[in-house]
Amino acid sequence: MVRVKQSHTDFAKGVTWDLSPLYASIDDPKIEADLREAGALAAAFEKKYKPALSPLPGLLADYKKIVTLMTRPGVFSHLFFAEKTDSAERGAFLQRIKERLTEIQSHLLFFEVEWNKLGEETAERLLEDPALAGERHYLLKLRQWAAHTLSEAEEKIMAVKDNTSRHAFSRLFDEVMNSIPFHAEENGRRVKKTEGEVLALFHSPERPVRRMASEALAEGLAPHTRILTYIYNMILADHRAGLKIRRFKHPMDPMNLSNEIDLGSVRRLIESVKNAYPLVSRYYRLKKKLLGLDAFYDYDRYAAVDAGEARVPFEECKSIVLAGYHEFSPEAGRIAELFFKNRWIDAEVREGKQGGGFCCQTTPDLSPYILVNYTGNLRDVMTVAHELGHGLHQVLAGRRVGILESDAPLTMAETASVFGEMIIFEKILSGEKDPRKRLGLLCGKIDDHFATVYRQIALTDFELRAHEAGLARGELSGEAFSDFWIAANREMVGDSVTLTENARHGWKVIPHFIHSPFYCYAYAFAQLFVLSLYRRYKEDKKGFIPKYFEMLSLGGSQKPEAIAAIAGLDIHRADFWEAGIGLLEEFVGQAEELASEKIFQ
Ligand SMILES: [Zn+2]
Repeated sequence: MVRVKQSHTDFAKGVTWDLSPLYASIDDPKIEADLREAGALAAAFEKKYKPALSPLPGLLADYKKIVTLMTRPGVFSHLFFAEKTDSAERGAFLQRIKERLTEIQSHLLFFEVEWNKLGEETAERLLEDPALAGERHYLLKLRQWAAHTLSEAEEKIMAVKDNTSRHAFSRLFDEVMNSIPFHAEENGRRVKKTEGEVLALFHSPERPVRRMASEALAEGLAPHTRILTYIYNMILADHRAGLKIRRFKHPMDPMNLSNEIDLGSVRRLIESVKNAYPLVSRYYRLKKKLLGLDAFYDYDRYAAVDAGEARVPFEECKSIVLAGYHEFSPEAGRIAELFFKNRWIDAEVREGKQGGGFCCQTTPDLSPYILVNYTGNLRDVMTVAHELGHGLHQVLAGRRVGILESDAPLTMAETASVFGEMIIFEKILSGEKDPRKRLGLLCGKIDDHFATVYRQIALTDFELRAHEAGLARGELSGEAFSDFWIAANREMVGDSVTLTENARHGWKVIPHFIHSPFYCYAYAFAQLFVLSLYRRYKEDKKGFIPKYFEMLSLGGSQKPEAIAAIAGLDIHRADFWEAGIGLLEEFVGQAEELASEKIFQ
């Protein structure tokens, strides 16, 4: 029997967030008061501006006030539900708030519709108003949707129906996934595990533990194949309908538009990464050797190379991460510290808590909130560093730009998070002198880079196959999805990995496929972008930091290419992606070199 000596649920016990700056509780009368005020303001807004969008600066000031009022109950209900997704009371609360917000939103919809209806010349003339400087990019961005926006009445119906279609399937997915009991063997006993805990076991240096994780996942997921297949089919069908209704051509078009990236750039990214797939096999061959395995299975891919990997209590994680951010820049350190001091982080592992990790943006006058499921391994330390990067980005943007422009597009939203991970990684690596441990750390980082670059492109590849097949054939079987999954993964790993029968369940656990189709390529985009950025930082630390802060504080107020240009990067160059991929190759080269040292022979 496999033994897992410690329960990984105890490493961050008691580290919970304090939501009281939002509301005192679910019964706080202020929730209703805010919703009512937002509702009244929205009705007045409609009455005042529907006849004419004038004056535009005054309209936007009123609009921002309403959006701010709506954000608070929206965020609170989302975070409150994430704390305990198995609570019927919280689920009902989330749904109730969502419906109320949709109702309020229905009074605001005319604004986007009317704004997009204006002729090009009129819009341009209005945008020249210096009073609009702070919202110009937001207004321009809205107009990109002009060709895909419906009439106001149709938009209202779409918004209401979303709550019982794609949003409903999204929530059903979360509820199904969070309620699946996974079981692992611990001290000879069968113990219930959350999905996050099972996924963490794939990083174990002990193969029997990894194999058990793979079996636990398959055993838990198999009985839910039918419902998960149905949910995904409905998401695909909804997406197809949306493409048709909104006059989009390619399934990725809506995501690309909101990312402010053209299809050509995304295709170049996918192609560049696919061209570099052989690096995956090269690295897995090294890993197989380092792990001393005769065969390399799918569940071996994330195995920790350093068998003695330490468990890091949350307090220690906090000091490592804070020291790293402080060394990078005292200002970044000060901001990161606020998250711990003011309890903006929920880190403990609890049954029913939402899996994974996120940093939730609130309003510029309030803090972002971070959720992680901290099990004490080094990857979790990196996750904390990652989410704090988001936090830093959001705090800086919140100070500089208004609520309408603080949201960076996905491709840029991962900049500070991935950069934060790099800083903390280098800090940990530089403090480690033992070559075995250094190699372990380096391989861990390569694993993460691969998960973010190669794997996300393979995930996108899977999605493309699923969406295209859905378009051609309609509803698909679970087996078909599993086939696409294996095909996309096979292309990435070549013959360096044996994909087992259990690997066929892989597509079922990716929430992005459900919540936000084609989200994943943004990770690869961001990672390669950050690797290029990191290179600039290493070349000239002093000169880079003010540029970096400038980039982050702009939030979503400029196009990605303009933000990248601040650091001297040109994302339209055909060889842009090769620079980041080259750095990955260097990492693998370093690992190979270290592994060839005498002590490893
Ligand atoms: Zn992130």
